[in-house]
Amino acid sequence: MKFENKSLEFLKKYLNTASPTGYEHNGQKIWMDYLKPYVDKIEVDHYGTCYGIINPEAEFKVVIEAHADEISWYVNYITDDGLIYVIRNGGSDQMIAPSKVVHLHGEKGVVKGVFGWPAIHTRGINSDEPVPKLDNIFIDCGASTKKEIEELGIFVGTMITYPDEFFELNNKYFVSRALDNRVGGFMIAEVARLLKKNKKQLPFGLYITNSVQEEVGLYGANMIADTIKPNIAIVTDVTHDTSTPMIEKKKEGDLKCGDGPVIYFAPSVHHNIRQLIVETAKTNKIPFQRAAASRATGTDTDAFAHSNGGVPSALISLPLRYMHTTVEMVSQKDVASVIQLIYETLLKIEPTMNLKYH
Ligand SMILES: [Zn+2]
Repeated sequence: MKFENKSLEFLKKYLNTASPTGYEHNGQKIWMDYLKPYVDKIEVDHYGTCYGIINPEAEFKVVIEAHADEISWYVNYITDDGLIYVIRNGGSDQMIAPSKVVHLHGEKGVVKGVFGWPAIHTRGINSDEPVPKLDNIFIDCGASTKKEIEELGIFVGTMITYPDEFFELNNKYFVSRALDNRVGGFMIAEVARLLKKNKKQLPFGLYITNSVQEEVGLYGANMIADTIKPNIAIVTDVTHDTSTPMIEKKKEGDLKCGDGPVIYFAPSVHHNIRQLIVETAKTNKIPFQRAAASRATGTDTDAFAHSNGGVPSALISLPLRYMHTTVEMVSQKDVASVIQLIYETLLKIEPTMNLKYH
């Protein structure tokens, strides 16, 4: 799969920039710089959600949305001998923490640390050896006292991220931490670029929206849905590839990287928008997969659908392996297909389209 160099450079820079939940600004700045030439206007709300607008004067408003934040940790407790205990900021996984390098975003800049773990020799190998838990994982910054930690600019509330960066695997996959959901921001920005490049005129206002704070409860989308008050929202996020070991397909569904975008069936997903997406995929021969979600999708789709008295919303997901680890993987082919599917769907939306079920 070939992406334009400029697009790939943006994706790489965007992924390699730490953008933890609540502190998304550095990533958002890169995203806005890339998007700017393709939109008429850019706005930022008070908590950092950004959106570029095409046709800002139009009355009918369509949102395409992704989330900008990545999971991380907070410094929660510093021991007298200078070790750090953490709490989650989003669904950070304690199982992968031991022996990871971390970046602590302190008041004097980034400080390195490591998640320590007792050696195999000292903990023994038996059935009751410790497993990583939130109350036994700890960070060592090489300091011997709490005072020394504070002198490094690290205090309770300091944000902690992983430094792992983007690379390509076997020319088929993108690998990085935070592909969830920085790749979504990439895909919606690419849709805006294609609209501009192909000189497409849309009969509505398009709001390309990169929301903050998804990982802790869809908060950014909740806020921005009320601000924009869209008529339609199409959300993109990642979902689990279930073809790797130890995942139960009966429970998680049958989804695979490389088999195409995932179209979701859920109460918050509006039938007419979903049907338009399915038909668009078929007409344009874009491969797609189906997934079902009971109650909630767990994505920003729910936030848009449940706002403003009900906003017709749909969800196009990108299959991803190893979610919330530092080696998240997505198929390059699927990334291109999601971009194409959102783009072609937008070209079919008319402000007069029927948004009632009957
Ligand atoms: Zn996530």
